[in-house]
Amino acid sequence: MSEERTEAVARLYVTGDLGEGVAVTLDEGQAHYLLHVLRAKPGNLVLLFNGRDGEWAAEISAAAKRGVTAKCLQQTETQHGTPDIWLAFAPVKKTPSDYLVQKAAELGVSVLQPVFTRRTIVARINEERMAANAIEAAEQSGRLTVPQIRAGVSFDKLLASWPQERRLLFCDEGGDAKAMTQAARESRGGPTGILTGPEGGFDPAERAALRALPFVMPVSLGPRILRADTAALAALAIWQSIAGDWS
Ligand code: SAH
Repeated sequence: MSEERTEAVARLYVTGDLGEGVAVTLDEGQAHYLLHVLRAKPGNLVLLFNGRDGEWAAEISAAAKRGVTAKCLQQTETQHGTPDIWLAFAPVKKTPSDYLVQKAAELGVSVLQPVFTRRTIVARINEERMAANAIEAAEQSGRLTVPQIRAGVSFDKLLASWPQERRLLFCDEGGDAKAMTQAARESRGGPTGILTGPEGGFDPAERAALRALPFVMPVSLGPRILRADTAALAALAIWQSIAGDWS
């Protein structure tokens, strides 16, 4: 790891362009964090990424009331693709979606799509909070992109709008499904999504609708019933190790 990366005091996601000599003005929250939490000073280095231009080591040049500016010095990572894996999930109680978003972001998910199925008991989700969690997890995990948090959709809308070329691995605890390892092998190289249900699982009509679709592949995550968030993270880990960028 280059010494700029080790001595940087923070790694932050920004939306503006990054490039040699470009001065980036950080937002208020970031300025507060740098100046008052990390007690950063002009001259300190931060790592910046925006999802397009790779990662840059930037030097804090001005730290005033109106905000902090950092000047890009050197690119520390070139922008490279990450495996194209989506997670569609029915939000569940207790495990806040924030937690699931954070873990899925660390596991390299590119899109998080909340879906409200017939047995979903969570009425609404806080997409803003989820987006903030996704950014924080991307900053911490060294990602060069931030997972996209989509607006929640109904089960029917999910299936109607799902891109046909994207294989959907339907985590089905009802049995009669392929082992996740096998499904990951078969989905290798193509755009893929994983779907998990709510506490009460999918109802028979939903299960039938899923199994009738050509791009859907029912998968099993073993003999025990996992909590939906456990299932999502286990499926993602298996997928990344077989079809993603862990190997
Ligand atoms: N209906 C279940 C509980 C659902 S668990 C019951 O018998 O009570 C919540 C979700 O996690 C499921 O809808 C499924 O998507 C996933 N899941 C849990 N265990 C699984 C397993 N062993 N194989 C595949 N998916 C599983």
